[in-house]
Amino acid sequence: MKHEHIVCCHACDELCCVREPQRNGRFLCPRCGTLLFRHRTGMIEKMYAYALASLILFGLVNYFPFLSFEVAGNLSQANFLTSTVYLFKEHEWILAVAVLMTILVVPLMRIMLFLLLFAPLYYGKVPFYAKTVLKVLEHASPWGMLDVFLVGVLVSMVKLVKMGTIVPGTSMWAFVVLVFVMTSMQVSYNPHMVWEIIEEEESKRSAL
Ligand SMILES: [Zn+2]
Repeated sequence: MKHEHIVCCHACDELCCVREPQRNGRFLCPRCGTLLFRHRTGMIEKMYAYALASLILFGLVNYFPFLSFEVAGNLSQANFLTSTVYLFKEHEWILAVAVLMTILVVPLMRIMLFLLLFAPLYYGKVPFYAKTVLKVLEHASPWGMLDVFLVGVLVSMVKLVKMGTIVPGTSMWAFVVLVFVMTSMQVSYNPHMVWEIIEEEESKRSAL
């Protein structure tokens, strides 16, 4: 049996009854016309693909050298992580922490959370931690907002580039693609749909 449920419009507080929440399309509030949520097939598949691609690209970005420095006539190359270590050694604490957070920690955490959530969903399983991951992503959104993240990355990059020159190689290209893939991942992310799947799974389990 397809369950129907009540959605509260976040613009006018009208309670709307949605009969087929799994149907594809846009659901509008009958009173004010605000978009309640959007449902598209293939979200799980897309999210899994984007998360996997992001993880691979993230690995490439951090494995290959991103900057080259000239230290006492010798050319040495560094990736993001070693650049951060260099910043720490130079006692540029705040900058080092900012680079570490915006370029390494925050994106990796987002990728891992998406992967933890969407890999089991792709194989038709609802993981027991699904609700927790959704809530963490919800609470983390002010920190993970893409525009804020991109500004952070750009500022960190400008500061880093002052230390040396960008190596026009694998790391740089992987970084460019990573920004695009992570943007698409964020755009495709539809938590409402995951809540629907969780609810459906729970009602199935309680019916047994
Ligand atoms: Zn409304």
